[in-house]
Amino acid sequence: MAQMGKIGEQLDIDFIISTGDNFYDNGLTGVDDPLFHQSFTDIYTAPSLQKQWYNVLGNHDYRGNAEAQLSPILTKMDNRWLCLRSFVLNAGPEIAEFFFVDTTPFVTKYFTDPEDHVYDWKAILPREKYLNNLLMEVESALGESRAQWKIVVGHHAIKSAGHHGNAKELNIHLLPLLQTYDVDLYINGHDHCLQHISSSDSGTQFMTSGGGSKAWRGDVSWWNPQELKFYHDGQGFMSVEMTPTEVSIKFYDVFGHVLHNWSSSKQLSFAI
Ligand SMILES: [Zn+2]
Repeated sequence: MAQMGKIGEQLDIDFIISTGDNFYDNGLTGVDDPLFHQSFTDIYTAPSLQKQWYNVLGNHDYRGNAEAQLSPILTKMDNRWLCLRSFVLNAGPEIAEFFFVDTTPFVTKYFTDPEDHVYDWKAILPREKYLNNLLMEVESALGESRAQWKIVVGHHAIKSAGHHGNAKELNIHLLPLLQTYDVDLYINGHDHCLQHISSSDSGTQFMTSGGGSKAWRGDVSWWNPQELKFYHDGQGFMSVEMTPTEVSIKFYDVFGHVLHNWSSSKQLSFAI
């Protein structure tokens, strides 16, 4: 966390995104769960991290009281905290828009084979209706966006060479929207690694930043080397810098060393 604070200071960051699984192993039990302080407030103490945090829910968060993480009571306890199921963040007029998508309810196995876990699906059922509404909202938000850079954030990976691999439901339902609306970046967590995959069939770059807590060494599947630009099976984090014409991504290890970077530029497009 110390390195995250240092890099945050160097880059003078505006906000921080958490890609979910905010609280291990089973989310929060309620708004009064001491884990909120132990795993958030008391951990991210660096001055540069005293900014707005935007959080999505991961599958582990759904194993607790998912509703608790969305509660304004947490924001009252620590005003950096904001967690919603799905939402749009406009980061600078017409520069960048972030579309946060609640991906856990897409994954069928959590419903059909929950093993010994109990998921908090209260707000999700009936599931099909929830997913259809969500996809319609994502599609209309992407369609209306005038942002130069469009970034979709979800917990589960669309493309990953890591332990969990691709969430096939997202490949069926979400990937076509990213392609249709020219999404620049898809950022996810879930797999405990850092990874960058570029696809041959779209301009979207797929970034996994799931190395915030634990890491699984050596747990990597084969992936087309033309597409797999970077894979790190250790802990770390990533940064995103944006201007109207440029985006720059960097991945760091726990020592703050840059392991991989990627950048892209675009002409300013003027509305007619
Ligand atoms: Zn997860």
